Amino acid sequence: MVTVLEPDTKQNGKDAASRTEAEGRRCALSRIRNIGIMAHIDAGKTTVTERILYYSGRLYKMGEVHEGTATMDFMPQEQERGITISSAATSCTWMNHQVNIIDTPGHVDFTIEVERSLRVLDGAVAVFCGVAGVQPQSETVWRQANKYKVPRIAFVNKMDRKGAVLQNVIAQMKERLAAPAEALQMPIGSEENFQGVVDLVSMKALLFESESLGSRFEISEISDGMYAEALAHRARLIEAVADKDEELLHLYLEQPEVPAEALMAAIRRQTVAGRFVPVLCGTALRNKAIQPLLDAVVHYMPSPLDVPAIVGHDPKDDAKQVVRHSSDFEPLSALAFKISADAYVGRLAFVRVYSGMLKKGQNVYNPRTRKRERLGRILRIHANTREEVEMLYSGEIGGIAGLKNITTGDTLCAENQPVVLERIEFPEPVMSMAIEPKTSADREGLQQALETLAAEDPTFRTLIDPDTGQTIIHGMGELHLEIIKDRMFREYRVQARAGRPMVAYHETIRTTARSEHVFQREIGGRGQFAQITLEVSPRARGTGNKIEFHVSADCIPTEFREAVEEGIKDGLVTGILGNYPLTDVLVNVTGGKFHPVDSTELSFRMASVMALRDASSSAMPAILEPVMAVEIITPEEYMGDVLGDVNSRRGRIKEMALKEAAQIIHAEIPLAEMFGYATALRSLTKGRASYSMEPEMFEVVPEAIQESILNR
Ligand code: GDP
Repeated sequence: MVTVLEPDTKQNGKDAASRTEAEGRRCALSRIRNIGIMAHIDAGKTTVTERILYYSGRLYKMGEVHEGTATMDFMPQEQERGITISSAATSCTWMNHQVNIIDTPGHVDFTIEVERSLRVLDGAVAVFCGVAGVQPQSETVWRQANKYKVPRIAFVNKMDRKGAVLQNVIAQMKERLAAPAEALQMPIGSEENFQGVVDLVSMKALLFESESLGSRFEISEISDGMYAEALAHRARLIEAVADKDEELLHLYLEQPEVPAEALMAAIRRQTVAGRFVPVLCGTALRNKAIQPLLDAVVHYMPSPLDVPAIVGHDPKDDAKQVVRHSSDFEPLSALAFKISADAYVGRLAFVRVYSGMLKKGQNVYNPRTRKRERLGRILRIHANTREEVEMLYSGEIGGIAGLKNITTGDTLCAENQPVVLERIEFPEPVMSMAIEPKTSADREGLQQALETLAAEDPTFRTLIDPDTGQTIIHGMGELHLEIIKDRMFREYRVQARAGRPMVAYHETIRTTARSEHVFQREIGGRGQFAQITLEVSPRARGTGNKIEFHVSADCIPTEFREAVEEGIKDGLVTGILGNYPLTDVLVNVTGGKFHPVDSTELSFRMASVMALRDASSSAMPAILEPVMAVEIITPEEYMGDVLGDVNSRRGRIKEMALKEAAQIIHAEIPLAEMFGYATALRSLTKGRASYSMEPEMFEVVPEAIQESILNR
């Protein structure tokens, strides 16, 4: 082991344990690390993850030279990759700690999936390529991690490649990401001669053997030639940390040769607080310096006890906060962060338990569906095995089979002490596409496949067009819908024909309006009566719809409330102007009347739909269109042409910056104007510019364009 120290386990003292930890836990809370590995595509996330699983799969003793029995065929083969790596969560053991690795996808089209996983992890390893350094998409992911205050370690991979320079990447991290980053290591040798690292904390050299696939490494003294430089780097590291850490600063002033233990403790404090980013380096492909990365995860990443308690709200009262601490003895709270279709057990819901325990066979409550469900098998996935367990304890991550009505983002809790953990906010889909089965034999399969896919992925939705009866799928971009179509064929063997991708418009209202609607009919020889008064008013853009009741039970008996709510939701889904769903509307139910015999759920539902439609029609309805945040990188000489083209697409330039001889343009452009952009940009710039985009917001479309959308 590089540093012969155990991480700070004070919080795992006897007292703490008896308060927070049940007997029978596999692993103390302070010894759990829930981490994600995030990276720009191609930086080596998959290879790094594979190596982590590989090295943690064997016995490992402290302070020795490690004898591996590795053979090449243990190394996961290309076709096996998918199994472990694409699993939503994999567990491994390192230095007596349970390290749970949560998958974070790298593609920018799926940033929402990144957000979803960032929400459930306590820390992350950001992998950078030693040559390419900080790439545009790493910036996006880094900003998201900032938003969720995720503590990070950086790993600069591919140190064996020509032109890989650790300090260059650190400089870029500081400049482009404003990251408080500093190296904990110094590379020994470079490019194909990269042999290992100097550990600046313990001031030892670690040299990795190629023959044993890096399982064997030697810990030795730093060579004379490198010692002075290593000392200088260590001083820089200490100064960077002491700048933030009072305790270390005091020590440093008294004793400039700060002992390794004290330095480690300070790095841990500042990293956990999100004020420092330790940087390590190595090469996953050449099997060098992965073990120190695992050590660093254990040493510097927070345990569930080190992060703030999770805050949710009372399902009956949004305004009432409910706090759940990391403890087995608090009431249950768990969050489902991914639903996947598993070849062996069917629908598998991956959950993180924040508080309490999940036991096989137990009933848990889902506040969204207001239903209880019985927990089926509980699984934990390891590198190449799956383990069935009886129980998941607080702080742990695992998969649950057999839950039928769960979707991503749902909370599982105790029915008598319910809580809704802040739902992960998913952006509204921006692209839609009609889809139909190729043959009538495919019809049922298509429906089933779409339902399963929608349950797995909250940014994918499927609706039936009320006018044409067509099935319309909605997603985050052309690529997203293409992948869905492809998965339908590959995984569900359904042949489907898809229409052109189209913009998914929404509707909203721009002023307040009231309506009163009386529903009075005779249906099947029976009178039907209900009366509803409601008011609609605009809410802030992007906040969604909200329904409130300010009406006494004398006007609308409580048993009809749900029917009223459903009626309003029906009305909101179909919109007013062009059948696009209404959004950002506050619906306030202010009055109503009922009849003791003739009032039914149906009559209240109908009255509510009608009242909502009336009110919305007089509240200046408008069409909303998705606007994309677009980043264009172009050589300077094409700037004028590119900007002119952005303007002609109703785009607004937000920012321009020169970065290494290329101009970076940030603009907001309506999605409707982005069709064919790849081709247009290519021909404007002789193929030298590139762009990426992601949904930013919805905006009211200009009058003239609204006309043309509605008259299509
Ligand atoms: P991901 O897209 O981030 O998951 O990256 P992969 O792990 O699939 O790696 C992308 C490519 O980089 C693959 O061809 C890897 O073999 C290669 N690669 C990964 N790690 C290293 C490394 O340390 N050195 C070099 N030279 N190539 C690497």
